[in-house]
Amino acid sequence: MRATQLYAPTLRESPAEAELVSHKLMYRAGLIRKAAGGLYSYLPLGWRTMKKIMQIIREEMDAKGGQELMMPIVQPAEIWKESGRWAVYGDEMMRLKDRHGREFALGPTHEEMITTLIRDEVRSYKQLPFMPYQIQNKYRDEIRPRFGLMRSREFVMKDLYSFDRDVDGMNISYDKMYDAYTKIFTRCGLKFRPVEADNGAIGGGHSHEFTVLAPSGESSIAYCESCNFAASDEKAELKIIHAEPEELRPLEKVSTPDCHTIELVKNFLNVPIEKTIKAVAFMDDDERLIVAFVRGDHDVNEIKVLNAVDGANHLYMADEKIISAAGSVAGFMSPIGLKDSAIVVVDQTVMEMSNAVAGANDVDAHFINVTPRRDFNAEKIIVKDIRMVKEGDPCPHCGKPLKMTRGIEVGQVFTLGKKYSEALHATFLDEDGKEKFFEMGCYGIGVGRTMAATIEQCNDADGIIWPRAIAPFEVVVVPVNAKDENQLALATEIYDELKAAGVDVLLDDRRERAGVKFKDCDLIGYPLRVTVSPKTLAGEAVEVKVRRSGEFLHFERGELVAKISELLETL
Ligand code: ATP
Ligand code: MG
Repeated sequence: MRATQLYAPTLRESPAEAELVSHKLMYRAGLIRKAAGGLYSYLPLGWRTMKKIMQIIREEMDAKGGQELMMPIVQPAEIWKESGRWAVYGDEMMRLKDRHGREFALGPTHEEMITTLIRDEVRSYKQLPFMPYQIQNKYRDEIRPRFGLMRSREFVMKDLYSFDRDVDGMNISYDKMYDAYTKIFTRCGLKFRPVEADNGAIGGGHSHEFTVLAPSGESSIAYCESCNFAASDEKAELKIIHAEPEELRPLEKVSTPDCHTIELVKNFLNVPIEKTIKAVAFMDDDERLIVAFVRGDHDVNEIKVLNAVDGANHLYMADEKIISAAGSVAGFMSPIGLKDSAIVVVDQTVMEMSNAVAGANDVDAHFINVTPRRDFNAEKIIVKDIRMVKEGDPCPHCGKPLKMTRGIEVGQVFTLGKKYSEALHATFLDEDGKEKFFEMGCYGIGVGRTMAATIEQCNDADGIIWPRAIAPFEVVVVPVNAKDENQLALATEIYDELKAAGVDVLLDDRRERAGVKFKDCDLIGYPLRVTVSPKTLAGEAVEVKVRRSGEFLHFERGELVAKISELLETL
């Protein structure tokens, strides 16, 4: 392609709202333009990269037996009501009505759609495993669309669903997808980590998130350098921290005026923070009060609390009314003496504490010498691991101190088990003549987020540094003065040769100043730039700039194409 026929508008400035470097560079390099909050157009260069990522995904899905199909984006409410998720999905789902008043949703994901399709189509075990997938726009009315394509309201997702006869089959499909994802993100040139993840609202069995390592990422990951453990902070399972045994003192209520935070109580009573018990009060959709207790220096992990309480789908901060109805007061909540209407969830490590400080369910008062095993009503409480991991916590596998890092979730794989096949009555006839529910899995990749994450990881002060596999063009040939017929002719000759050799090449035939073109090349981030100058015309070696290293290499005209092909293999 020739630059004079390519719409690639580069800009000096980025929009004020752009916080992330990837968002800024996607604007400035002319990859995307905003239509409204969280809604974007992809310009030709951006779409070329998107297509390359999709092609890699397709190849790896097909290699595992995936079959591409396409389902409707507009989905009838009925199937969501059948699965029970119409009510659960909440405001993130974009809903609409047709002219007859019938309800629909713009697909945020397709478990219902695929399961209702398959239940009518796939009847026999002989047709299994079955792995249909699609690459399509998804819709989520994110509460805070931001960071450009990273968290948008319309985005391109690859979603594959696996249907198997039994759990063993499902696990094989899961492993295949795990392997395919590893290949995809490796081929894209990314530094990433698969991390154990929470299944979230989708439900089901186990899950991994594929996380591109970047300090700007929204995901926080705990990992161990000694063993292979890595998990999202939401998921990271933690072991009990055992305390030294102590002589137990009797429970006592003391006055703690205005001490409504752990910090204030600890200072007032002059105790270490590890000797305090912190309360966080939530309510769920049914307005049930759920109070979580963790050690004072720990933080509550909302996802773990949600998973610990049967029937809870969302958690909100509890209001004063609900707290006082349970016989307590915010800032002084205690597991001791809370009314039965409250659901009490206590972190496992709290149960090991002794002679600790906790609220007294009374204004300006705390209990001291709290010893949970003695003072809590064990029958009424839920004891679980509900705390957030932090740097230095012992690794749940090997005990060594954990490290924390940040990343961007670009893909996630889940086993779903029979959750959707049962809810939607999707069965097949097994070899033994019995009707059985499918064992399912689902596997998503955000294509736009992968593009953004790549830029987040691969950039410098001058612009993007594309890994070759997903660069909009692999090589750009730049005649420094395109008005000079001879230069343009030589550049065109090199361009034609590269094209014939299968290189994805752009000829920058714009009649711009060389400096402007070079700046654009660096901003857009083509892996290699071939410069055609008067020196080249005079027969000197051809200059090739490697975008990643900034190096200038020189190759004899005769060996140029071969050398470029070789170089590309390394980028
Ligand atoms: P997040 O936790 O970031 O909201 P998610 O876990 O809800 O994402 P999944 O349902 O696992 O997302 O979707 C699969 C993939 O789709 C994600 O790994 C991500 O790459 C992409 N994705 C999800 N939401 C968005 C979004 N709002 N904008 C762009 N890509 C998204
Ligand atoms: Mg996810």
